[in-house]
Amino acid sequence: MPAARGYTSPERLENEVELDQTLRPAHLEEFVGQGKIVDNLRIFISAARQRSEPLDHVLLTGPPGLGKTTLAFIIANEMGIGIKVTSGPALEKPGDLAGILTSLEKGEVLFIDEIHRVPVKIEEYLYSAMEEFRVDIIIDSGPGAKTISLNLEPFTLVGATTRAGLLSSPLRSRFGISNRLDYYNIDQLHSIVKRSARILDIKAADDAAQEIAKRSRGTPRIANRLLKRCRDFAQADNKLAVHKGVVTQEVAQYSLRALEVDEYGLDDMDKRILRAVIEKYNGGPVGLNTLAVAVGEEPGTIEEVYEPYLIQEGFLKRTPRGREATVMAYKHFGISRKTPDQETLF
Ligand code: ADP
Repeated sequence: MPAARGYTSPERLENEVELDQTLRPAHLEEFVGQGKIVDNLRIFISAARQRSEPLDHVLLTGPPGLGKTTLAFIIANEMGIGIKVTSGPALEKPGDLAGILTSLEKGEVLFIDEIHRVPVKIEEYLYSAMEEFRVDIIIDSGPGAKTISLNLEPFTLVGATTRAGLLSSPLRSRFGISNRLDYYNIDQLHSIVKRSARILDIKAADDAAQEIAKRSRGTPRIANRLLKRCRDFAQADNKLAVHKGVVTQEVAQYSLRALEVDEYGLDDMDKRILRAVIEKYNGGPVGLNTLAVAVGEEPGTIEEVYEPYLIQEGFLKRTPRGREATVMAYKHFGISRKTPDQETLF
């Protein structure tokens, strides 16, 4: 695990690719939450199938670990077709994109994860591919340069990004369907934990699943990770032997304390952001760029990956003058707020 990342970091850790796959729902029916998105996709998929056409291109945005990759696979499954997977950083040369586009079979899904990281030069090739199912490849350079046009099979591009703000408008406008995934509530995460426990054959009590759900930062990937770690404690920590390998509420509470997961499942970066606003800027307001320098993260990443959860949970406020920590944030860290004359406000 990278040093600055805790157990509630929403990004996929290297050793989690397999876990993500095992626990990935395969059909819309099994996909918990995101009701509007699921309902709409069901209709668009059914209509496309009736017309025997590929589904329109789909853009999925939202913070990490909320189910974008899962939905891409479900779309292919529900359309009854194959899927090819790549990512923005893997597409270094136009040839990389042309190679994968020409390998697509009729109607297939091409999933491009981190689509905001597709290099600009390559993005332009995507336009004609998406619009006309054609790529124009330039061979050689200088006076002898030739362009050849390759016709592609009709396909569906599913693009996923955590940083929607970095997508160019020409690219964004070529997606017929665009969805932003939201954080999950505790009930939904509870169902996800129960489902994962069933699949992984982990005995987890209802109140234990609830405890994990509450501390998962609204993110299924984190819920799944915490469940697995709780199982380890249940199985191997001698102090918990009486629980006979079952993840009871007591086991969950003990394990989560041992993993230093706080009651909201705040990530290290969440805490750094809040502490910086409180301790360095007396609770704010502080501008996004200043805050970004203070915590050593990109402003856009703070805005699109971290802040949405902190704002949703009421720790941070976005005001015209900058970011402000709320009373709840102060209370969370047990810090009291003082006026400039050192009078205690709360
Ligand atoms: P993203 O691509 O947004 O980072 P993933 O699709 O890889 O997220 O999801 C991470 C894990 O969380 C998956 O393995 C899956 O098991 C679980 N997951 C995500 N969304 C859901 C959901 N709605 N219902 C059940 N499990 C989910």
